Amino acid sequence: MFTSVAGLSVLVTGGSKGIGKGIARVFAQSGAHVTIVGRDPQTLAGTADELGAVGVVADVSRPEDCRRAADTAVERFGGIDVLCANAGVFPEARLADLTEAEVDAVFGVNVKGTMFSVQACLPALTASGRGRVILTSSITGPITGFPGWSHYGASKAAQLGFLRTAAIELAAQRITVNAVLPGNIATEGLATMGPEYRAAMEASIPLGRLGEVADIGNACLFLASLEAGYITGQTLVVDGGQVLPESLSAVDSR
Ligand code: NAP
Repeated sequence: MFTSVAGLSVLVTGGSKGIGKGIARVFAQSGAHVTIVGRDPQTLAGTADELGAVGVVADVSRPEDCRRAADTAVERFGGIDVLCANAGVFPEARLADLTEAEVDAVFGVNVKGTMFSVQACLPALTASGRGRVILTSSITGPITGFPGWSHYGASKAAQLGFLRTAAIELAAQRITVNAVLPGNIATEGLATMGPEYRAAMEASIPLGRLGEVADIGNACLFLASLEAGYITGQTLVVDGGQVLPESLSAVDSR
């Protein structure tokens, strides 16, 4: 039996839709006080209403926005116990055409945004005495590759480089730092890739389906639990077995 997270203060960046919304929903349903962050005010307000969460319009690539989001969670809920640094973007661009602006945009949100979010929440996570940081990385980059996402894959691998040193530095404050590595999860963002992409992905997953956002939320709930307090600097792949097959025929001959 895991100790309840009811009453904890949980901040989820990119919590207005997709995986972040799924994470926020799992924590809200478990009785946590949830603050969500996103750039689009309308989407954010709709999700905040739906989940009973507090919404903060902020861009995680800006340190001052991250500090404002952390301050809001502290003002509303008395602190921050769990940060899910999930906000991310994945625009497609082939290496031959990739521009400096596209690289900067992806690294600005996925890498710098992760670092600034953690930094902004540090005082509150330290005060918690059981602080948890959970990053949303990806299988793409740390384990796999996919044409069109060299910059994205590099950014998702960079998050893990950050995680390993952060986990050591923050251990003194009893803050753990871990990452979930989703495979292909059914989200609004993934829907923009089209039905052919979705079908190809489903065919490559041993468990035969795309992940649900709750699959990632539940993994975060575990890493946020008191009972996971001795786990730090680690990665948890949540992908239905997608990284396992040596080739497509390994999946076909299940
Ligand atoms: P999504 O549906 O596009 O949602 C992204 C969320 O992040 C939205 O709430 C978005 O809101 C927010 N966001 C984006 N840029 C932001 C910024 N600069 N500041 C604050 N919020 C920002 O994407 P998703 O599929 O759920 O992806 C979420 C995370 O999971 C990302 O880190 C992604 O790399 C990772 N991931 C996704 C998959 C997948 O299959 N979907 C697989 C592996 C990893 P606004 O646009 O309003 O700001």
